Amino acid sequence: MKIYNTLTRRKEEFTPLEPGKVKIYTCGPTVYAYAHIGNFRSYVFSDIMRRTFEYLGYQVRQVMNITDVGHLTTDEVGTDKLELGAAREGKTPEEIARFYEKAFFEDAAKLNIQKPHITCRATEHIQDMIALIRRIEANGFAYHTKVGLIFDTMKYQDYARLGRLKLDEQKAGARVDVDPDRKNPSDFALWITNQPKHLMQWDSPWGKGFPSWHIECSAMSIKYLGERFDIHTGGVDHIPVHHTNEKAQNFAATGKEVVRYWVHGAFLTLGVTRMGKSEGNLVTISELESQGFEPAAFRYLCLTALYRSPLNFTEKSLKSAQNSLHGLLDFGRIASGWPEHEDSSWLKPYQEEFRSAVADDLNVPQALAVVWNLVHKANKQPDRNTWNTILDFDRVLGLGLKHLLSITSPVPEEVRRLAQEREQARTRKDWAEADRLRGRITELGYAIEDTPKGPRLKPQP
Ligand code: AMP
Ligand code: ZN
Repeated sequence: MKIYNTLTRRKEEFTPLEPGKVKIYTCGPTVYAYAHIGNFRSYVFSDIMRRTFEYLGYQVRQVMNITDVGHLTTDEVGTDKLELGAAREGKTPEEIARFYEKAFFEDAAKLNIQKPHITCRATEHIQDMIALIRRIEANGFAYHTKVGLIFDTMKYQDYARLGRLKLDEQKAGARVDVDPDRKNPSDFALWITNQPKHLMQWDSPWGKGFPSWHIECSAMSIKYLGERFDIHTGGVDHIPVHHTNEKAQNFAATGKEVVRYWVHGAFLTLGVTRMGKSEGNLVTISELESQGFEPAAFRYLCLTALYRSPLNFTEKSLKSAQNSLHGLLDFGRIASGWPEHEDSSWLKPYQEEFRSAVADDLNVPQALAVVWNLVHKANKQPDRNTWNTILDFDRVLGLGLKHLLSITSPVPEEVRRLAQEREQARTRKDWAEADRLRGRITELGYAIEDTPKGPRLKPQP
């Protein structure tokens, strides 16, 4: 298995810390509003990663946090996003957090994103954060200002590495404006105090206050995965600040590099801008559903791009993804009625190709190409094991093909048989017979459409 490590900016051979096991921490959602499909592109990516490791025989342990405190509107300045949601909807931050956390997992389930083995809420781990901050402070990486306890980024030599930051060019920004006692522009808060208006506050050795967003992920990842674990995932926006700060905190507390591979997913964009709250161009899963799209069509769209390449979202591309998904299901409808070949060894090269595509830094577009090559080949050489093989591939793709097929009305046996005979007639170039068979199919209430991805059967209204 090869994986691109942001730390080295190289594709590296993945070696697990413990043979056969992979420990993954995935930065989870800030639950103050509905997650948008940009966020979900990131979670489809981490889900594909987990599924790939499982497919390759690893035992995976995946942990994801739920940010329900401490993520402020502009990094560490401004209102807590949860409190913003609470003010917007006239509820408590806790009500907001629970509501949107539930909505997040409902949408994630629609996309067949597997639930992490452990999901952990920031508000339920304040004592773990305090304990980690104490270690950071005891090791000499922190200092006090009026804002709270601050991390001294100059004490950690490797601070700039993950984000390839040019620290000497960094201007004193918003953080220094609100806190003139900061030693360096990149220094960040570990624990924030003196914020009487903040609704969520806890006692701590540094006074009443609340943790910053970054310490939450350090504390919970170490708690559940240990002081050294394999992979940390998130979106590319996390590289220069959130993950850079996590990495610094981890080192300051433990004296070690905790994370071995930092892996980041690229953005879903709308034209030239990323989809995001501040860009005001959000689309949610429910909106797609109300426009007649299946969530699995969005997942299919995500599979068409490498996780490290930006993916531009358009209605056209989603429609085309939905058509491909339907094409695959039509194929499944036909192929699941085929007889099994006695010798299905012809499928082996496809299985090997699929495996090496996903093992090559999750090259899912390449893996999808293998699926369609197989469909083309199978149309000429019907064998039910083709569909079984595609269902096996779906353990990685996660489209839920078996389920989707079971909830859509099956094409009658006779129509399937006629379609198969027509395919054989077309292969023999017996066009007259192919037309006659098409006529029979139409009489039985089905239209047959020849697409580049094989014939598709559609019930006629
Ligand atoms: P948040 O809830 O803001 O903490 O974001 C949750 C996840 O979504 C993070 O991993 C972000 O990096 C990711 N994310 C945010 N916007 C996008 C986008 N437009 N495309 C892909 N991932 C995104
Ligand atoms: Zn995080």
